[in-house]
This record gives sequence, C-alpha cells and structure tokens, in this order.
Amino acid sequence: MTQPLLEVKGLTKHFTSKQGLFRKEKVVRAVDGVDLVIYPGETVSIVGESGCGKSTTGRCILRLIEPTDGQVLFEGKDIRRLSGEELRKARRDMQLVFQDPFASLNPRKSVGQILEDPLIVHGIGTPAERRNKVEEMIEIVGLSKQQLDRFPHEFSGGQRQRIGIARALILRPKLIVADEPVSALDVSIQAQILNLMQDLQKEFSLTYLFISHDLSVVRHISDRVAVMYLGKVVEVADKKKLYEQPTHPYTQALLSAVPVPDPHHTAQRIILEGDMPSPANPPSGCTFHPRCRHCMDICKTTAPAWKERADGHLVSCHLE
Ligand code: SF4
Repeated sequence: MTQPLLEVKGLTKHFTSKQGLFRKEKVVRAVDGVDLVIYPGETVSIVGESGCGKSTTGRCILRLIEPTDGQVLFEGKDIRRLSGEELRKARRDMQLVFQDPFASLNPRKSVGQILEDPLIVHGIGTPAERRNKVEEMIEIVGLSKQQLDRFPHEFSGGQRQRIGIARALILRPKLIVADEPVSALDVSIQAQILNLMQDLQKEFSLTYLFISHDLSVVRHISDRVAVMYLGKVVEVADKKKLYEQPTHPYTQALLSAVPVPDPHHTAQRIILEGDMPSPANPPSGCTFHPRCRHCMDICKTTAPAWKERADGHLVSCHLE
C-alpha cells in the first residue's frame, strides 16, 4: 500500500492573548486537533469560512509557526522533532505559495534575484548553474528570461503569482502548500493559474495541499476535500462524494451556496444562522451546534466522534 507523503495527527495550535480590564489570559483554539493524510501525487484541499483555522493549519504543517501539539509526519518523520540538516532538507521538500504574491515578493529585488535566493540559502550550484535553473524555471511558469531583470511591481497579478509559483518550485519540492493562491486574482486569470498548477503537478510529480474558501475553485483542482469548522476538520471525502453527497450539515450549507450552472437545478440554499463563534470561546459539544438546523440534545454536550460513511468518507456528526 502507498505510504502517505504527509500525515497530520492531532495538530493543535493555541494562541494566548490578554483581554479585558484585568488582562485575563484567553486561549484561542485556532487549530484544535486536525488529522489529515495526503498521498503522493494527490491534491487535498482544506475548505472553510474565513477564520476556521485552515491557513494556520498550513503554516503549522510547514513549521512556519510552531504547533502547540500533535504530529506532522512528512515521509514518516515528525518534522516537529527535526533540527539541523534534516529540518533544512524537509523545508526544501515542502514549499508555500502565498495568497498575495505582491506582498510576498521583495519589491527591492529583481525577479532573477528572488528566484535565485532559495538556491543560495540551500547552497545549490555555482552562480552559472543557478542562473540556468532560474532561466529554466521562469520559462516553465510561462514567463520569459528577458523578464528576470524586472521588479515585482512591473508585473500583473497573474504574472506575480507565476513568479511566486516559480520561487516555490525552484528547489524541486515534493509538497506545495498553496494558501488561497488564486483568491486575489480576476476569475479569468484564476483559471490560467489553476491550469498551470495542474500541469506542473504532472510534470514535477507534485503533491498539493490546497487551502481555499472558494468551493468552485476547490472542485476544479482537488482529489479529496477536508471541510474545516472552528479549528477542526468535520468531513473528509473524495471530491465526487463530497460534492454529490455532502453529509455534515455544515458541508451541506456551504455547498448549497455554490451556484450550479444548470437551469433545472432546484436545490434550496441553506442559510447558516449567525456568525462563526470565536475560537477563544468555542461552544460545548459539537462546536457547530448553535448554527445547526439538526441540533439534538447530545450535540450540545458531547463532541461527535468520527464515523466512516463509506470508503474514505469520514464525518464528525451525531446524525445517523
Ligand atoms: Fe449538527 Fe449535531 Fe451533527 Fe453537530 S453533531 S453537525 S450539531 S447534528
């Protein structure tokens, strides 16, 4: 059986903040026990409303922020326990594509310098070899080597995201965590970047963890989807099952809001009452219960366990 490339177990990230007149310490449960498995070559998406903890999960997986608890096994090794050369190697294999390429590209450096920097940091190649790699990579993402001496502000949003992708790929990683990589772009450009990412996935045997609030984008790119609510994953399934038979009431509500390009489609939109509660003060039991139209007594007191509805379709809900 294929071994997972990435296995996340009980990943937790709590932030503390002091609030109120007496500066009382509050614990914000941004990520609260996330489990996730990603196999080589897959695209797994994490989807959920803003503030659900999906970006924090991505950053904890890359150890850009230190998790509070849990394991992140990359090729079987817990990256939380790595240091020195082993950690550098894991970092090389796991790269991030940011939402806002403009903010993530140093405005004072040319594109050539931006792409060469990761190679220098990891001690790869001579200057001439690095230049060759940079020229090759810029063309792979659909730009030209004549553009390498330009600065980020001279490019459009879509071109800047191509540069962000080139920077992530220059070290030839195995896993890319893409955090809302197209949400800052026009719809027509979004499709181009998603198609580029899919082409690159085939060419470089990449595995993607794709983070997005946009269910239409997620449908386009994913093999499997994990739905996240208030720091927890509440449903995981392959894309077809999740979009055709959503089981968790939160997933059903999210999907009911996605426009379907079919004039005969008559499904009712499920309106979610209220806002997502604060992760500093999560509801008891099932944290979705104050907004759930199927809420039962048990939901208010007891957190639901995982149930397997079908092969690989996991749901955290008390409903039978
Ligand atoms: Fe709704 Fe209860 Fe299921 Fe939570 S456990 S989603 S409150 S039915």
